[in-house]
Amino acid sequence: MDSVQKFSVVLPLHNEEENLKELHSRLKAVLEGLGGPYEIIFVDDASTDRGFETLRDINANNPFVRVIRFKKNCGESAALAAGFNAARGEIIITMDADLQSEPRDIPKLIEKLNDYDVAWGRRVKRQDDPIRNMFSWGGNLARRLLIGDAAMDAGSPLRVMKRAVVKKVNLFKGLHRFYPTLCRMEGFRVIEIPIAHYPRTHGQSKYNIRNRLFKYAVDLLAVKWMHSRHIDYEIIEELDERAS
Ligand code: UDP
Ligand code: MG
Repeated sequence: MDSVQKFSVVLPLHNEEENLKELHSRLKAVLEGLGGPYEIIFVDDASTDRGFETLRDINANNPFVRVIRFKKNCGESAALAAGFNAARGEIIITMDADLQSEPRDIPKLIEKLNDYDVAWGRRVKRQDDPIRNMFSWGGNLARRLLIGDAAMDAGSPLRVMKRAVVKKVNLFKGLHRFYPTLCRMEGFRVIEIPIAHYPRTHGQSKYNIRNRLFKYAVDLLAVKWMHSRHIDYEIIEELDERAS
C-alpha cells in the first residue's frame, strides 16, 4: 500500500483492549461514508493487555488497517509522532482509542479544512470526573493567560489536520497537550469546533493529577519559552543571480 491515501487516522493506545473492535467499526463506517481511500493506523504503545492480539485480528481482516507496536511504553506524544511519520494521507485525523469521542464528529471537522489547516474538537460537556475537569480547566486557563493562545480545550484528542501540519510541527514528550499552540506558532490556521464527549466505559485513563500536574507546569513553561523565542521573519526581497 504505497499510494497516497486521502485520510489517515492515527490512534495512540496503551491498554485499550476492550475498546478497539468497536472503535474500528465506528471509524470504518464514518470513513467509508466520506468516500476516498483511507488508512487507520493503530499505534500500540507497548500495551500489556491482549490489545495487540485484537489488533492483529483487525489487521488480518481489514486491508486499510495498519498497526505499529512499540518495544516499550514511550507515551502518547511518541505514539502520535510515530503515526504521523507513517501516515500517507493528505488529511490526518487523531483520536484517543478510548471511545470518549465519537467518530461521527469527524466529517464536520474535515469541512473546516476548506478555510483552516487544523480543526480541533472542543469537548463542550466533558464527561470526566469533576476534579479532572477542574484541573483541565485551570491548565487551559494558565496556558491562555501565559501564552495568549485562544484554544479553550488544547488537550482535546480529536483533531483533523492537513498533511503539511504534521510534517512541520515537531512533537516532544507531553506536548500533544499544546498541539494547537504549536500549530499556530508555525503559522497554521487553527479553529476549534464543539464536539460531543462520553464517559469512559472500558479501560482506565492513563493520567491523573499526580502524574500530570508537575509535568504540565514544566511543559507550559517550555512552550512559553518556545513561543517567546520563535523565529518569525518575512522576506520582502531576495537577490540571487544564481537562482535564475
Ligand atoms: N496512551 C498511550 N500511551 C501512554 C498513555 C496513553 O498511547 O503512555 C493513549 C491512550 O491509550 C489513549 C490516549 O493515549 O488512547 C489518551 O490517553 P487517555 O485516554 O488515558 O488520557 P485522557 O483522555 O484520560 O487524558
Ligand atoms: Mg482519553
